[in-house]
Amino acid sequence: MLFHEIVFGPIKSRRLGISLGINLLPTSGKICTFDCIYCECGYNADGRTKQGFPPRETVAQALKAKLQELKSSGITPDVITFSGNGEPTLHPEFESIIDDTIEFRNKYFPQAKISVLSNSTMIDKESVFRALNKIDNNILKLDSVFDDSAKLIDQPLQSSFSVTKLIENLKRFKGNLIIQTIFLKGVHNGQYIDNTNEEEVNAWINVLKEINPKQVMIYTIDRATPEKNLQKISLEELNIIAKKLKKAGFDVSVSG
Ligand code: SF4
Repeated sequence: MLFHEIVFGPIKSRRLGISLGINLLPTSGKICTFDCIYCECGYNADGRTKQGFPPRETVAQALKAKLQELKSSGITPDVITFSGNGEPTLHPEFESIIDDTIEFRNKYFPQAKISVLSNSTMIDKESVFRALNKIDNNILKLDSVFDDSAKLIDQPLQSSFSVTKLIENLKRFKGNLIIQTIFLKGVHNGQYIDNTNEEEVNAWINVLKEINPKQVMIYTIDRATPEKNLQKISLEELNIIAKKLKKAGFDVSVSG
């Protein structure tokens, strides 16, 4: 499923409420530094496009027009969310676009939060780090704290990817972040996947204690996935993980 507009919705988001979406990636394909086996946009290879990133001015115009339209129809978004066809922080003008969005949000819907759903791979870039520190909901992915599992689930394109490095970068936010983790089971290329087992969950919670996020969002598969051999986790199982998190002192959001 691809988003064919730069500004889309508002849609009812499982995790965020009435959400106006912004897609900073091409509207005809997908660009991401991960190639997650559960990606709702499909695999990167199936989303190849020659189209580039939309220019900052085009994004600003589209967002302004949509906010004006919502204002005149009496619809109030809870949140403006950067997600879309890939990794939003890959956009070369990401920080300037965040600045524009803050300006428009303050003018049209000052109560709306600004969220970015990111896979965390670009947070070592200073302009991305700065931009994410300016928004309300800096939502960063951490699907496993084990290299083998993270590589199997998220399929990072960079061969130098390491969860240890990623965790160090997440700690740099000093708690100004929300961690998002998908839980799933299944098989990919003959390898069994289960990031819900005790070893995975306990190690993940220990790392979360070091990262100290203001919230932890846990969820499972919601739509069709490119890897067909994946199983959704039951709400019961997610709630067991949530209970452990709460016991460790975390604010938790569960989407089953
Ligand atoms: S990080 Fe997000 S957009 Fe990128 S492949 Fe994974 S699920 Fe898809």
